[in-house]
Amino acid sequence: MTEKLYDQDAYAVEFDAKVISCEAYQEKKESGYHVILDRTLFFPEEGGQSPDKGTIDGIEVTDVQIKKDVITHSLKEPLAVGETVHGIIDWTHRFNNMQQHSGEHIFSGIVHSRFGYDNVGFHLSDNIVTMDFNGVLTADEVREVETAANEVIVKNLPVEITYPSKEELKTLDYRSKIEIEGQVRIVTIPGVDVCACCAPHVKKTGEIGMLNVQSLSNYKGGVRISILSGFRALEEERKKSQVISSISGTLSANQELLPELVEKLKQSNQDLKYKLAQAKQKLVEQKMKEIPADQENVLLFETDLDTPVMRNAINGLVETHAGICGIFVEKEEGGYNFIIGSKTKDCREIATLLREKTGARGGGSAAMIQGSVSAEEKDLRELLA
Ligand SMILES: [Zn+2]
Repeated sequence: MTEKLYDQDAYAVEFDAKVISCEAYQEKKESGYHVILDRTLFFPEEGGQSPDKGTIDGIEVTDVQIKKDVITHSLKEPLAVGETVHGIIDWTHRFNNMQQHSGEHIFSGIVHSRFGYDNVGFHLSDNIVTMDFNGVLTADEVREVETAANEVIVKNLPVEITYPSKEELKTLDYRSKIEIEGQVRIVTIPGVDVCACCAPHVKKTGEIGMLNVQSLSNYKGGVRISILSGFRALEEERKKSQVISSISGTLSANQELLPELVEKLKQSNQDLKYKLAQAKQKLVEQKMKEIPADQENVLLFETDLDTPVMRNAINGLVETHAGICGIFVEKEEGGYNFIIGSKTKDCREIATLLREKTGARGGGSAAMIQGSVSAEEKDLRELLA
């Protein structure tokens, strides 16, 4: 059983410990050493939370796992069994995790007391905190909880850690009440939340700084809500604000007008695309009229034509020209998209010819084929002549 130093002091950063064992491991693409110490400050991956980062004797700790109260550290280099080593945890990462986890207790506690829903799926990664509640909350209700959570943060309430006896636990009303062997650790934020939890927390809610809801979606009959607290929330707000000012600058518009403006741009883009397609169709029709009626094969090389326009043109051409009728439209990345039709020739044979001579792709019926080809106009004209 590893002595959990992080339980005694969530704010401690450095520690000395004795190496109990060190064994080489090989898992898929990864290899290294599994190290067990007599005591550790490294919080393992547990209860949905990612593990602490840091170093032991200057060697990076890549993972921390717990099994039956024994904590295993993964390291790239070995440590000598029986020796005393010095560990340092990544405090920025740890404190950020503490802000996220304490923030989550406040949010889940408020949801539990106001709506009676439980957080049945908690995940704390380095980028986001997600909670799955077994009941539906509306966007307005989520905003209310978010405001209430920030009020709890501002009140700077204590976050108390206690270890009640089995008898006391029987009468205590707390979240995450499951059968746990051994000592149950209770985290209490007075008047807000009481929950069984093994993770490091901040001492006062004020240290969380702020809590922002990032997303809300329906999930398994309830809702999935993601939140960020403290410095990670600040970082996310910075990113969003940079994106907004960049768009705002490009469009030379105030932030408040952006949603309306983007909607307008989207609409006008659609209108323009439609008008352009119509103009192109007219242009192709005009070109088709100018082709002498007695010309057997017709091959047109164009730019920017949609597939429906290409198909319409071929359908028209095969009615008046007996040979091979084809339209080749330039692709942005080079080469052509093509449609070829004929009333007298088997187009599948043309597809085979194109495939063999130019590596073209595509196929279709005897009357019409469709595909793409990387070849020069001159070579394609010669080939199909
Ligand atoms: Zn917890």
